[in-house]
Amino acid sequence: MRRRMVRQQIEARGIQSAAVLDALRRVPRERFVPAEVRAFATDDTALPIGYDQTISQPYIVAFMTELLELERHHRVLEIGTGSGYQTAVLANLCDSVRSIEIVPELAARAARALADLGYAHVTVEQGDGYQGWAEHAPFDRIIVTAAPRAIPQALVDQLAAGGRLVVPVGPTFGIQALTLVTKDAAGRLRRQRRLDVRFVPMVRAVDKN
Ligand code: SAH
Repeated sequence: MRRRMVRQQIEARGIQSAAVLDALRRVPRERFVPAEVRAFATDDTALPIGYDQTISQPYIVAFMTELLELERHHRVLEIGTGSGYQTAVLANLCDSVRSIEIVPELAARAARALADLGYAHVTVEQGDGYQGWAEHAPFDRIIVTAAPRAIPQALVDQLAAGGRLVVPVGPTFGIQALTLVTKDAAGRLRRQRRLDVRFVPMVRAVDKN
């Protein structure tokens, strides 16, 4: 079923990177969703994971992963761990993956699912992604899987020279622009819109209090 998911939903829509397709074939999406929706784990859709959050549609995971142009040695930061599914896809491609999730229960659940599947080189932390993770910066690649209204400055600052940042930017209710930010060797930034998407909003830590 996973092979068919990759063929029909991902390859058919133009994702070409063999490494990305292979990672999507390897990661058992059913291990990252609650039991109630497990039967739909290879469906062409986002699914609820509790706490008003969702696991992204497989195609969007593949699209964002391809856009990152990952290499094994890249140091990767993910904001919005959620289920941990995207984290596992990243972990198949890179040796160093750190992920931040603001909802403590989701952070704990994702960390457990990732550990159960043997991803030892992944670190999940509960925290506010707007701050990035200064202690481990800079990052070669940063992926954000919740939508801020504007790109958080800390993430731009923590992007290495030659780095790529992929982030959905836009309003809470409505279409957001999946945006690629590149930083060249001189530190110059370039911003490109790549796809219309709908993500859950990136919330601020204060919203939760
Ligand atoms: N890639 C995940 C997507 C989960 S949805 C998956 O496929 O499962 C986005 C996640 O971002 C949610 O779990 C939400 O709680 C989290 N989030 C929202 N605002 C955040 C913030 N400021 N810092 C870290 N995580 C945040």
